[in-house]
Amino acid sequence: MPYDFDLFVIGAGSGGVRAARFAAGFGARVGVAESRYLGGTCVNVGCVPKKLLVHGAHYAEDFEQAQGFGWRMDHPQFDWRTLIDNKDREITRLNGIYRNLLLNSGVTLLEDHARLVDKHTVDVAGKRYSAAHVLIATGGWPEVPDIPGKELAITSNEAFFLKQLPKRVLVVGGGYIAVEFASIFHGLGAETSLLYRKELFLRGFDGAIRQHLKEELTKKGMSLQFQSDIARIDKQTDGSLLATLKDGRKLPADCVFYATGRRPMLDNLGLENTGVELDERGFIKVDENYVSTEPSILAIGDVIGRVQLTPVALAEGMAVARRLFRPEEYRKVDYQMIPTAVFSLPNIATVGLSEEQAREKGYSVTTYESRFRPLKLTLTQSQERTLMKLVVDAKTDHVLGCHMVGPDAGEIIQGIAIAIKAGATKQTFDETIGIHPTAAEEFVTMRTPTSH
Ligand code: FAD
Ligand code: NDP
Repeated sequence: MPYDFDLFVIGAGSGGVRAARFAAGFGARVGVAESRYLGGTCVNVGCVPKKLLVHGAHYAEDFEQAQGFGWRMDHPQFDWRTLIDNKDREITRLNGIYRNLLLNSGVTLLEDHARLVDKHTVDVAGKRYSAAHVLIATGGWPEVPDIPGKELAITSNEAFFLKQLPKRVLVVGGGYIAVEFASIFHGLGAETSLLYRKELFLRGFDGAIRQHLKEELTKKGMSLQFQSDIARIDKQTDGSLLATLKDGRKLPADCVFYATGRRPMLDNLGLENTGVELDERGFIKVDENYVSTEPSILAIGDVIGRVQLTPVALAEGMAVARRLFRPEEYRKVDYQMIPTAVFSLPNIATVGLSEEQAREKGYSVTTYESRFRPLKLTLTQSQERTLMKLVVDAKTDHVLGCHMVGPDAGEIIQGIAIAIKAGATKQTFDETIGIHPTAAEEFVTMRTPTSH
């Protein structure tokens, strides 16, 4: 029986749009359903608006530092409404671009919720569509622990649309979103505390990076409260909030922001009508070709819970489109050496193994570290320091990992990731001529090991 579509994609986020556009470009008949917002999490409530708010927050330091260069500004004022309105306008523009990208590539776009009826059939707004392959690219959703008063807390979803900047914010969590939003709130002038349940945030990142960020955020006046977790949240008579911690401490706040991880978005998806199984963490179980336990149904991106990053969802979407419709160009996604940045202030960026991971894997490790005050800051009062670190395999001289905390870390590490992926050794770094004067040149001038 012929199907309505060769591929039906559920979710027009990072992964879904990429898979749909490429599949259509390869000649497939493609349908896409999107229930909420074109472009998905990244464009609407993730990477893009987040980075705009980070830029907004950094102006506080820019104004202060400008004085060292002779600029005088009397009391710069910040207006949250202007930032949010301008951000919203830009996101609406991007939604339109995504709509055009899909339509121009020949995809049939249905802007409504999709539900699986069986292994080849999807229901969208009461109409049924059949497809040879169905791709689930429904992303994730913030997960707030089940504590009394959880409904009083917000997540990143709401933070982007707050009517005003809260005066006192408690940020709960120690991952990407927690440190990024703590930096945003703090930079924009809110009294900000970050509460993390264990001894040091950013588990999984290199120890030196975690420690360095802790010191830099503390210097800036953010309150970092590790070994702290909220037991309950109550509303006060004046409308403000009171968080009671597990150790009995009470912290008043105007906003409690949870960033404690994301669950797969499977709500009303109809998986029970198919043979799709979940893994032990509740994400969709797929094989190395993103095929679920129901052979006609595939899944990519945050909903499979592997690496929750937009460029990874894009790569997975591309791989699916190629394997199904242009097999001669199919290449597996390489999950080794994925570079990543945390847009805290200062930024973190990293590629490859942390020192701890390298040692755990049995490498004999040499590390190189450089800590310095960037040239730009020497004319200012800022005491912010940059950290750069290389983790090297002492036996082969290959660079196993590269880590940085400092301005534009993501911009710098992206280039270095190419070198490391190409197999650069420490000698390659040493033989590379620096670009002077830059911060990045430190990566090619680190001569003295800090540990063996
Ligand atoms: P999504 O982009 O989430 O798209 C899923 C889409 O499916 C959504 O549009 C949703 O509405 C739709 N959908 C769900 N169910 C249905 C249904 N039943 N029917 C129809 N449509 C449905 N990554 C980075 O690389 N860099 C960053 O700086 C970064 N910052 C982030 C900041 C925040 C605050 C957050 C939350 C995430 C951030 N991420 C970042 C992660 C990144 O956004 C995700 O990894 C990425 O969006 C995953 O893409 P996806 O295609 O799997 O899902
Ligand atoms: P993460 O998984 O990165 O971090 C979750 C944090 O919450 C961890 O510190 C975790 O602690 C803590 N936590 C989990 N459960 C609880 C609980 N019940 N009580 C208290 N604390 C808890 O999730 P995020 O929400 O920060 O972000 C989701 C993903 O989105 C990221 O992992 C990343 O892949 C992606 N992202 C990427 C960004 C980027 O590229 N710049 C920016 C934002 C998001 P513990 O360490 O102890 O487990």
